[in-house]
Amino acid sequence: MYPHAPYFILYTQYFILIPMLKSIELSGFKSFAKKTQLDFKHPVSAIVGPNGSGKSHCAEAFRFVLGEQSMKSMRGKKNEDLIFNGSRSEPRSNRAGVRIVFDNSNRLLDMDFDEIVLERVVHRDGTNTYSVNGTPVRLKDITELLAGANIGSSGHHIISQGEADRVLSVSPKERKTMIEDALGLKKYLYKKKESERKLEKTDSNIAEAEGLRRELKPQLRYLKKQVDTIEHIKQLKDELISGFRDYLAHEDHYLKHTSKLLQDQTIEPLRKKSELEKELREAHAHVGESKKEDPFVHQIHEVEGQEKEHKQTLDELVREIGRIEGEIKAEERLLIREKERATGEHLVSVPRDLIETFKSEIHTFAERGRGLFDISMLKELIETIKNHATDFFANFDTKATSAIDSDEILRSIETLNSTKETLNTRLSELQQEIELVGSQKQELLSAQKEHNEAFHAAEKRVLEISSELRDINNELEKIELQRSSLTQDNAVFEEDMKEAGFLFGNSVLRFEEISLQERTREEQRSVRKNLERKKMKYEDDTITSYQEVIKEYESLLERDTFLASQIADLTQTKGSLIDMIAQLKNKLETEFHEGVSRINEKFGKFFKLMFGSGSAELSVSRHETKGDEDEEKKVSHGLEVGVSLPHKKIRGLEMLSGGERALTSIALLFAISQLNPPPFIILDETDAALDEANSRKYGDMIEGLARHSQLVVITHNRETMSRAGLLYGVTMGGNGVSKILTVEFDDALSVAK
Ligand code: ATP
Repeated sequence: MYPHAPYFILYTQYFILIPMLKSIELSGFKSFAKKTQLDFKHPVSAIVGPNGSGKSHCAEAFRFVLGEQSMKSMRGKKNEDLIFNGSRSEPRSNRAGVRIVFDNSNRLLDMDFDEIVLERVVHRDGTNTYSVNGTPVRLKDITELLAGANIGSSGHHIISQGEADRVLSVSPKERKTMIEDALGLKKYLYKKKESERKLEKTDSNIAEAEGLRRELKPQLRYLKKQVDTIEHIKQLKDELISGFRDYLAHEDHYLKHTSKLLQDQTIEPLRKKSELEKELREAHAHVGESKKEDPFVHQIHEVEGQEKEHKQTLDELVREIGRIEGEIKAEERLLIREKERATGEHLVSVPRDLIETFKSEIHTFAERGRGLFDISMLKELIETIKNHATDFFANFDTKATSAIDSDEILRSIETLNSTKETLNTRLSELQQEIELVGSQKQELLSAQKEHNEAFHAAEKRVLEISSELRDINNELEKIELQRSSLTQDNAVFEEDMKEAGFLFGNSVLRFEEISLQERTREEQRSVRKNLERKKMKYEDDTITSYQEVIKEYESLLERDTFLASQIADLTQTKGSLIDMIAQLKNKLETEFHEGVSRINEKFGKFFKLMFGSGSAELSVSRHETKGDEDEEKKVSHGLEVGVSLPHKKIRGLEMLSGGERALTSIALLFAISQLNPPPFIILDETDAALDEANSRKYGDMIEGLARHSQLVVITHNRETMSRAGLLYGVTMGGNGVSKILTVEFDDALSVAK
């Protein structure tokens, strides 16, 4: 159960104890000005000497070297009080040092050395130094090393003068601590305390880390939002880039395609238009010319004039022929009358020269008219012939009366017939001419009709062309409208390209590879509208310094993650500490209760041994301390000492005499020691209050105790001295310096006095 227990059991079986405590050396410590060494080869060593010689300094030297921090328990106020203060003849020391040598062949102390030397030195400036086997160490190292061997600095194994009673006089809580210490639970308590301290520290570290995380939280939240926005912007940017590429590709295709289409659509109308315009010009020219004058009117008029003239001439010719026929008839009648005269009838013959004159005149006229006579010529000819005839007839009466004969009449008839014939020839010529002129007129009239018809047709065509042109112009206007709308679309496209390039770089303009889909303008417009809306959002949300934001967020997140992992680690540590504390608490409780019942077993026995009867025991008491109002009640436990001496009717410690009380405390101390025997026990005048009978019992118990622990007893008690294997006598000379000498038992009593 106790790590060192087998060691003692082994040696108690044979009654041989390898003393752990080998020696102690004091130099400059209190009254031990000079280096003084005490060896402890025996199970029981006694230090004897008169009052004030410096015996108790030896016990204090043990406390000191084992790391005692309480000045009070070394009867001092400050460190300096431990250093030899000098005397009239001796100078004061600068340092107080104590060395203690342990046999560690059984590895009672957890170090791989057969011998362990602890040394503590205190200087006048108050500094303390510790060493183990000459190596400077910390106090903590000493404490830990000794705790493992159940030899703490202020443990129950060093009972200072008047301190034996302490186990009875202390509070139940303090007593409990003492017992725990004696039970070797100190190391567990120490571990528990350490764990609790660590737990506290862990809790405060967790709180600190959580506090830091809380501080980081708003900034982290803010940055997270920013980073989310950045992520969103990046996503939006990607969407916009692909969206723009797609849109621009479609738009580019549409613009080029439509432009070509419109161009093509104008070719035919334009060609048609120019053709129609040409045709219109011609038609206009035609209509205009036709409108100016009728080219046939004049000719028709002329032909009609000719026709009229010819008809008049014809009439005159007919009349002339009629007259000539009348003349011929008159001549013929004259001839008849002449023949009658000759035969009774008078006939006048026309002289030959007159007929010749007529002939020549007609011939002349015929020559002038190139075979044709116009009316005036005919009139003139007839007039000339008339004049010649008148001239003849003016001379005729004389002649006739004298020269009329039938021949002449015949000649005249002949002439007249010839004239008539000529005129008839002329008449038939004239009729032919009239016919000719008539047919000419007909030709002209039909030409005029044709002309008029052509004019109307041209006019109709002008109207038709104009209407066609209007249609074509309308069509072209429509195309023009589409073209101007396309120009606007093109301008918007250029603007979009510029803007997209500016916002997302030139890569967005590489849209040649984009596969095109069938898309109406309506759809394309809605694509653009959507892009526009996204772009506005993108521009609104764009954070210029997003690199820094991400960097800051990441470093903050890293810190937060670190803190979180630290909290997780700390929480884990906390968990294991809580577990460990619970285990330790459990162990402490179990071992404490077991220990207490075992102590009680021994305590009862020792008590009975001391008092011959009665009983004594330790009982666990519960104490509640009320803290502040808010705090919970603190529950602690203590150990009460209960005694009963029925024959003396004593129940309770208060009823014991001083000696009885001393015996009780010794019984308890020894009971404790028996349970978990420390390697050595220092008893400083524990036996002071005992009478002779009790001193014997005490001496017996010392011997019993010495089976398990090395004993150093400081005593004035003869009985006690008698139980020691070695006696040291302490003396102090006039120089105020304590000295040690080994004494024989018989001398011891005198030394003690
Ligand atoms: P008793 O038997 O009466 O208990 P003791 O033998 O235990 O006495 P101590 O009490 O150990 O004697 O010694 C006390 C003496 O040591 C005193 O005379 C005291 O003056 C002396 N002393 C104490 N501290 C120093 C010091 N720092 N320097 C010199 N002497 C000191």
